[in-house]
Amino acid sequence: AKDSGRNTSVFFDADLEARLNSRLELQRDLHRGIINNELELFYQTKVNCQKTCVGVEALVRWFHPTKGMINPANFIYIAEQSGDIILLGNWVLRTACEKLLEWADHPERADWTMSVNVSVKQLKADNFVEEVSRCLNETGAPPNKLILEITESMLLGNTEAVIVKMQQLRNIGVRFALDDFGTGYSNLSYLQRLPLDQLKIDRSFVSTNTDHENSGLAQAQLTQSIISLGHTLGLIVVAEGVETEAQFHALIKQGCDIFQGYYFNRPVREGELP
Ligand code: C2E
Ligand code: CA
Ligand code: CA
Ligand code: CA
Repeated sequence: AKDSGRNTSVFFDADLEARLNSRLELQRDLHRGIINNELELFYQTKVNCQKTCVGVEALVRWFHPTKGMINPANFIYIAEQSGDIILLGNWVLRTACEKLLEWADHPERADWTMSVNVSVKQLKADNFVEEVSRCLNETGAPPNKLILEITESMLLGNTEAVIVKMQQLRNIGVRFALDDFGTGYSNLSYLQRLPLDQLKIDRSFVSTNTDHENSGLAQAQLTQSIISLGHTLGLIVVAEGVETEAQFHALIKQGCDIFQGYYFNRPVREGELP
């Protein structure tokens, strides 16, 4: 081999190896972390037009013993690749259901819904329906307060099988939201066939909706179209990533039903909820 070429490749190999090692280390840490109770659920409120809280979204956080708090964007994909997402997802579901039961006789929170993010591997697992119903049965949480958030990309492939599972869970009262709507592959014909309850407009539409740039008007019309589409399909329309009063008011005018974002509340520990 040529000298320079070899040096370059050795350099890149070492770099790659280092990255693989730290990735494997994180993967092992996460596996242990799930078992050792290092995960914690944070909750972000969802409000109506009157800014009254109608529910929360559970968002997982990982408190690594030496690295501190890690956001899901930095470990969910690792769990998905290692398969630990099933373990993690079941922990999230169980913890969220336990909280729902606790809130069932709370003076302010009894009516709150609990939205839980579901990963594609979870949804496609053969025993997904059993896992969710077992969680509900074992905790005694009210099924009609549980909302599972799925994304469009999860429906690629065997949409039929997914629809059957959604239908089975709906029969016991569980509801579904289509998350990050507008960012994925939107096939309107399947959208109509999905047993959904809510449509969550992606944050990217919310932030450009009130832009005063040239594109502002077109963006506002696009957001309006999504809201109208959701209503035509009989769905509750939720806006995520609402950061300003102007965004909130524009969305109210456009007919949006539920709002979530830093303007109202950040994701917090249960003790810091309103
Ligand atoms: P997502 O489901 O779209 O959740 C919304 C994300 O936007 C959250 O980030 C939330 O903290 C953030 N957010 C909320 N309001 C605002 C706002 O006004 N402005 C901005 N810029 N951001 C806002 P987070 O908690 O870091 O979660 C990121 C993603 O990780 C989630 O996106 C979801 O896809 C995934 N995730 C979180 N928890 C779970 C979980 O328990 N299971 C699975 N499978 N995925 C999860
Ligand atoms: Ca979500
Ligand atoms: Ca989302
Ligand atoms: Ca998102």
